[in-house]
Amino acid sequence: MVKAKKTVYIDLDNTLADYLGMCDQMHISPAEAKHTIGFFKQLRPMPGAVESYEKLNEHFNVYILSTGPWSNPHSLCEKVEWVKEHLPSAYKNIIFSHHKDLCRGDYLIDDSEKNGAKEFAGTHIKIHSPEFPDWNSVIRFVFEKENI
Ligand SMILES: [Mg+2]
Repeated sequence: MVKAKKTVYIDLDNTLADYLGMCDQMHISPAEAKHTIGFFKQLRPMPGAVESYEKLNEHFNVYILSTGPWSNPHSLCEKVEWVKEHLPSAYKNIIFSHHKDLCRGDYLIDDSEKNGAKEFAGTHIKIHSPEFPDWNSVIRFVFEKENI
């Protein structure tokens, strides 16, 4: 019998896309960046993020789950453009929400506990925490847990 694929959600800012790195480069604060038109489109992928996304995509149903700043709706367009450029295999698999806990699934890879991440019913993998310092540690954890 073929096992049904599990579902993985992945956050964008500071998980797949290097938000803070671009703040440093542009000499602006993270709060300021939120409202800066054109900011989100320019972000570089986090180290290992694209490769990790592709690895997960081979074994799971993967969705990008991101929150767009309420004050800057342009960010939503920019995030779609970013995903088209860097993760073309995420075709139509983007969800925007301020309530990530409403998404049903097995894993949420997210650097933050905000916007419902902490309340997510599956396993919240908090990337850039002591337990999961980078993408390698995330992939190792998920693949070990799922016997891949
Ligand atoms: Mg984030």
